[in-house]
Amino acid sequence: MYRTHNCGELRIENIGETVTLSGWVQKSRNKGFMVFTDLRDRYGVTQLLFTEEKTEEELLKLAGTLGREYVIKVTGTVTERSAKNSKMSTGDIEIEVTELVVLNESKTPPFKIEDETDGGDELRMKYRYLDIRRNPVQQNLIFRSNLAIETRKYLANQNFIEVETPVLIKSTPEGARDFVVPSRMNPGQFYALPQSPQTFKQILMVAGMDRYFQIVKCFRDEDLRADRQPEFTQIDCEMAFVTQEEILNTFEGLTKHLFKQTLGVELPDFPRMSYDEAMRRYGSDKPDVRFGMEFVELNDVAKGGDFPVFNSAELVVGINAEGQADAFSNKDIKKLTEWLQRPQVGAKGLVYVKCNADGTFKSSVGKFYDDATLQTWADKFGAKAGDMMLVLSGETDKVRKQLNELRLEMGRRMDLMKPDDFKPLWVVDFPLLEWDEDSNRFHAMHHPFTAPKKEDEEKMLNGDHETMKSLRADAYDMVINGSEIGGGSIRIHDRALQARNFKLLGFTDEEAEDQFGFLMGAFEYGAPPHGGLAFGFDRLCAVLKGQTSIRDFIAFPKNNQGRDMMIDAPSHIDDTQLKELNLDVTVEPTES
Ligand code: ASP
Repeated sequence: MYRTHNCGELRIENIGETVTLSGWVQKSRNKGFMVFTDLRDRYGVTQLLFTEEKTEEELLKLAGTLGREYVIKVTGTVTERSAKNSKMSTGDIEIEVTELVVLNESKTPPFKIEDETDGGDELRMKYRYLDIRRNPVQQNLIFRSNLAIETRKYLANQNFIEVETPVLIKSTPEGARDFVVPSRMNPGQFYALPQSPQTFKQILMVAGMDRYFQIVKCFRDEDLRADRQPEFTQIDCEMAFVTQEEILNTFEGLTKHLFKQTLGVELPDFPRMSYDEAMRRYGSDKPDVRFGMEFVELNDVAKGGDFPVFNSAELVVGINAEGQADAFSNKDIKKLTEWLQRPQVGAKGLVYVKCNADGTFKSSVGKFYDDATLQTWADKFGAKAGDMMLVLSGETDKVRKQLNELRLEMGRRMDLMKPDDFKPLWVVDFPLLEWDEDSNRFHAMHHPFTAPKKEDEEKMLNGDHETMKSLRADAYDMVINGSEIGGGSIRIHDRALQARNFKLLGFTDEEAEDQFGFLMGAFEYGAPPHGGLAFGFDRLCAVLKGQTSIRDFIAFPKNNQGRDMMIDAPSHIDDTQLKELNLDVTVEPTES
């Protein structure tokens, strides 16, 4: 037998028992006449004491032999520690070892297997098996497992059926780039890996499955921005005969259940905010509402004066940083302005107005506006002595995005974004289509299967080009603390409307038929009204745990170049394989 107990289990009640434990050597301390060793497994750490009937020589040898990460089995007696450790669950006891078996040796690990490690990201990914031995990573994976189990429980209770959809599907140009897989049996043809099971779950609704879910891998071949993974997991769901309201309630219910079961947190009902309102108040469709600092528009009080920049701007808009007037020196403001002017944000400049204690103002535009005018600004912001108003101007959409960045930055600096303060909301009423100047065509704001609002259907079928920009969709996102956790929509279930949408998106009839004929065909056989959503499961884990990176919630993540550092993939394949796949194009191998 390898163990009678695990390494996190023994307590003062077990004193006197003879036990056997197996695990990894965390560290050993040689005290000359005795050796203390911390033995670790998934469940915890137990202190071992080697002393009994051993000569000093034997002990010294032992301490030298038991290197870090050796796998050992020990048998011994549970005894009370003289120096207890209240930080450890097993801190009251230790094991006086009578028998030791070395089950396997270990090379010295390339980084510390401790909560705080000295290993860099790439090294940790290469030796992921060692990284996963570390408690924080292990706890994240356990948390993820619990979240998946609770999701299944909740949805099963609500009559959802888990259905697996295929991984080898068909490539479509809409959305992100596909990963493709050559078909050996069909020379010259390719499968694609699903970006989401979207069309399959809709087909399942046509098939009468009524309520579907799947915890499923999705694949998107995008340039990897920070914290994106080429393969990621969704909780993918679809329901038939539902209104948007019922969908929101169902998945608000799921989210509350998950918070309750995994964190013990009771979430209040989620507020709902229209897309337009979110953009106006926060400049973002995923506002972080843990803190206020809402946008205040100043066109009526800032334009028409002597400041040409504001006069020529489409929108003058700002935020009030409460109590920050003294915290920002001229130098700090200069730095903040430079931060805003980086290409990533792209603001032209920053105007500040500090509210002095005596009712006067100190401002970068003080020579254009007198104190009485600045007071009207302060009134709009509700700003008081000690506050600092920060104002941007420019084209409406751009300036809102820039001010969103500034608001979030100020939120961080002012420590207003507490990781364990959860503020969920639904953002609803997204536009159906988005006009793209560069490609000179419409894009689907959510995806091409999203239905317009019932009252916009007629406009969509018969309206002119400009009208299309005003169409609204029954599309919604769940946002928690500034992260988009999930999103979905009511779907089109009518062939003519779906065909019209493809046309608006620039598909020819042939292209639409070729790529989505199966779906439109299915709509002709009694497709029920339906809708759904998908949660980003990796991100959900990270947000619940108050962490910013999804990587450590994925057992084997890829690096920023999309490489798996441990197995070293992607890799070249040999000529025979290439030939078999009819891939006769020879690509010069690149250094990897
Ligand atoms: N398939 C969509 C996505 O992956 C979610 C949905 O509309 O259900 O974002």
